[in-house]
Amino acid sequence: MAVVTGASRGIGRAIALRLASSGAFVVVNYNGSKERAEEVKQKIEAAGGAAAIYQCDVSDYEKCETFIQDVIQEYGKIDILVNNAGVTRDGLLMKMSEEAFDQVVDTNLKGTFHTIRFVSRYMVKQRSGRIINLSSVVGVSGNAGQANYAASKAGVIGLTKAAARELAPRGITVNAIAPGFIETDMTSVLSEKVREASVAQIPLGSFGKPEQVAFAAAFLASEEAGYITGQVLHVDGGMVM
Ligand code: NAP
Repeated sequence: MAVVTGASRGIGRAIALRLASSGAFVVVNYNGSKERAEEVKQKIEAAGGAAAIYQCDVSDYEKCETFIQDVIQEYGKIDILVNNAGVTRDGLLMKMSEEAFDQVVDTNLKGTFHTIRFVSRYMVKQRSGRIINLSSVVGVSGNAGQANYAASKAGVIGLTKAAARELAPRGITVNAIAPGFIETDMTSVLSEKVREASVAQIPLGSFGKPEQVAFAAAFLASEEAGYITGQVLHVDGGMVM
């Protein structure tokens, strides 16, 4: 039983498909893209898997509590939580509005806190669980024009490590994935010039695919990864070493 936030598109979608193909029932969370979430559910079912869609804005503390309670009431447990929902609002620090800063931190960092906050109590009772948080290489290296995003993703790494320490005695692992540039809607807005400059920084010479991040998530969610916790796994073509 897996919950994947922001699974209507991009990396979250690929993670939902991948976990479902390994036999997990997947709750496909979305915020605005109901039709896209429905399409992910249908694709999972067409491949012989099972899924449900659930709308919840992860930046809302109370809605996250209801979301997780509803999932537990309906399906009984959550074995895997993937905190993937994320947004960007890029701009130079000196011109960045408080609202742009807050929106990114509230979704990427607080959203991750909210779901861990409510899911972990059930995982603690089960004495098992896998939590995987999507950070980013820019949470490690920083990036001009992304002060809000880099801060949120660095925060996700700190949160991951603190949660890993707190939850380890209860058999729960908590890890982060730090993708580099991955082909999704989030990076489709980049100009050709920025794209070329970005590719030049990637030793493996190209943007990655959502499925390559999904493979890392499936690995961290697997039974065999039970001795790995508090780690940040880079899936970035060697961009940040
Ligand atoms: P994307 O294509 O823009 O998709 C974002 C997903 O997050 C959508 O499913 C969206 O749902 C959901 N979402 C956004 N705000 C939400 C909210 N408040 N509550 C619930 N869901 C919300 O993004 P992506 O490229 O796949 O990125 C996925 C994750 O990987 C993000 O955390 C991102 O920061 C991280 N990442 C991406 C890259 C990259 O190069 N693409 C690199 C490093 C890290 P709706 O459409 O339903 O609103």
